[in-house]
Amino acid sequence: MIISFLLLFLSIAAVSHGDFPANALDYLSDFGYYKRNNKDLGSMSGKKEVQNSVESFQRFLGLPVTGVIDKTTQEIMKKPRCGLKDIPDDKVNRKRRFNLQGSKWSKNNITWKLLNDNNDRLSRKEVETILENAFAKWEAVANLTFYKLSFSSKEQADIDVKFVHGEHGDGISFQPWHYIYAHAFYPLNNKGYSGDVHFNDKYNFNVKDKNGVNLYWVAIHEIGHSLGLYHSSAQSSLMYPYYRGTKDQNIQLDEDDKLGIQKLYGSKITPDTKNAQVTQNKTHTMTSKKHIKVQAIIYDQLTGITYVFNEDKYYKLSKNLNETHGPFDVSKLLTKITYVNGGFMNREKKLVFFQGTKYYMFESFTNTKLIDNGSIFDLFKGIKNNVEKIDGAFVAGDGTTYLFTGNDYYQYSSKQKTIESLPKKIAEYWKVPTNIDSVFVWGNGGIYFFKGLQFYRVHQNGGLLKDYPKNIDGAWLKVLMNV
Ligand SMILES: [Zn+2]
Ligand SMILES: [Zn+2]
Repeated sequence: MIISFLLLFLSIAAVSHGDFPANALDYLSDFGYYKRNNKDLGSMSGKKEVQNSVESFQRFLGLPVTGVIDKTTQEIMKKPRCGLKDIPDDKVNRKRRFNLQGSKWSKNNITWKLLNDNNDRLSRKEVETILENAFAKWEAVANLTFYKLSFSSKEQADIDVKFVHGEHGDGISFQPWHYIYAHAFYPLNNKGYSGDVHFNDKYNFNVKDKNGVNLYWVAIHEIGHSLGLYHSSAQSSLMYPYYRGTKDQNIQLDEDDKLGIQKLYGSKITPDTKNAQVTQNKTHTMTSKKHIKVQAIIYDQLTGITYVFNEDKYYKLSKNLNETHGPFDVSKLLTKITYVNGGFMNREKKLVFFQGTKYYMFESFTNTKLIDNGSIFDLFKGIKNNVEKIDGAFVAGDGTTYLFTGNDYYQYSSKQKTIESLPKKIAEYWKVPTNIDSVFVWGNGGIYFFKGLQFYRVHQNGGLLKDYPKNIDGAWLKVLMNV
């Protein structure tokens, strides 16, 4: 015990040598992982807090979770990134992958203006074109339209974009010891700095496939914040806090980014859907505007009823799925918990629900007595300690339990009470997307995966059945629309 604390502090001391970062604790606190308080760092609780913040930093970034500032952790701390916190002050417990700022623009038509030129010999036209393309990325998938205001326009833009360095008047200076390319402001009150983007002109930005910082990449990321998105821990997301740009100017939003922005503003409304709205078929227009994740679906083998969980609400679907009842409060059914991230009926026909890395086991839907709870790392011995949550799970016909988390899946043997092997890549076996919303086995024995507004029925060999994926419709649709 003493040795590991000693190691922890030696590591922190080691990081403070050299030019970067001045102090690892400052670094963790600057990005929202550590809260400065009066606790003595020498005290047990002080040490524990430091260790916890190092762990959450490692977990968020997908590093091995060691709780000490090891080499890998030091390395990432030296990498260029965005200046905004990963864990905003108001969000200590994170439930989602894509994270939403509480507020958003209260309108769908948003103006922007480039306020100044940069030091990088890029013309205003070049920079404006890149910004236009960056705004267009978000506009393509969300119900938003952006308008560029010219520099000479007297009109005040919603989003001001500028190149600045060091202390630049907003109270959040670009400190020389941080390797920060830019920062932006969340929409908040739609006034003042709200939505603004500041590029750190200390760095050399480029707009073509040249060396230097890829302005396009950084612009898409920062505009994400301007629209209300937090940092994502998904490495493929444009909202990952560390710079992942290359010379490549062909940049695509990932699924997380799309879902995040659509949750805030709805999907793109195309002329087709607009017409549909005028005539009829309101349901489809509404779904295209709204994305809701189905967190867990459980077919109750005892009654034939299907239970669908969506955060703090749940629904009951009749045997043939043609009737929906609900929404009901999760807290009324499962008295110990108020929401679920995932769940399944295990081999012993007990209900297991997941909340992050915790699990809660209940007797049945008719007798919802809590029979066990604890850490998923204890329930499924052998899963890697960097797993943040279980997206879904099901028991296959041969009794093997499959667990899905991010890009990976595990096979768990209930007989041996252990994970059978290292995690495998979902993409290498299952013909379904990664980062699934949920999975379940229905009464017909079919295995169904859900992601976004589509569902996939697969064979046990991982292959997709004919005509899948299908769009969520009928009773499912009602659940998704939260009616
Ligand atoms: Zn950022
Ligand atoms: Zn600034």
